[in-house]
Amino acid sequence: MAIRNIRTIGDEILTKECKPVKFMTPRIALLIEDMFETMYSKDGAGLAAPQVGILKQVVVIDVDDGNQYVLINPEILSTEGSQTGNEGCLSVPGKYGIVTRPEKVKVKALNEQMKPYELEAEGLLARCICHECDHLHGALYVDLAEDGLHDNSEMEEAEGEDA
Ligand code: ZN
Repeated sequence: MAIRNIRTIGDEILTKECKPVKFMTPRIALLIEDMFETMYSKDGAGLAAPQVGILKQVVVIDVDDGNQYVLINPEILSTEGSQTGNEGCLSVPGKYGIVTRPEKVKVKALNEQMKPYELEAEGLLARCICHECDHLHGALYVDLAEDGLHDNSEMEEAEGEDA
């Protein structure tokens, strides 16, 4: 396993559409392991493959709920309600913004064995799924931030995690 370089805002790769994964390969299995290691090394809650320079639809998430989620080719099926809160991104270091997301999402994806599953998520996990799925389609939260970007040092309480 290895920690990979995280691409940051301004890097064109973060604006590109990612391709679906057709089969599990040793290269993608390694990518998933490396994405977890890279995310944990930065105390992130989620990471999408384009953030490490790979234009494939692969997302890893760990919001400290006891699960390590792998979402390959994720597709949000439905959303419910809304939540407004702080959001950060490992590709936009040192910043956060206030973003409104659905309170609940239902997503379908493939796991690391390429088996389809559905996940119903709420709160931080729902926020994180939306954020990471946006990455797969070349979108960053900065375009959704309601009041622009703020420096993390201005945040009164450490709340939320970067993804
Ligand atoms: Zn992000």
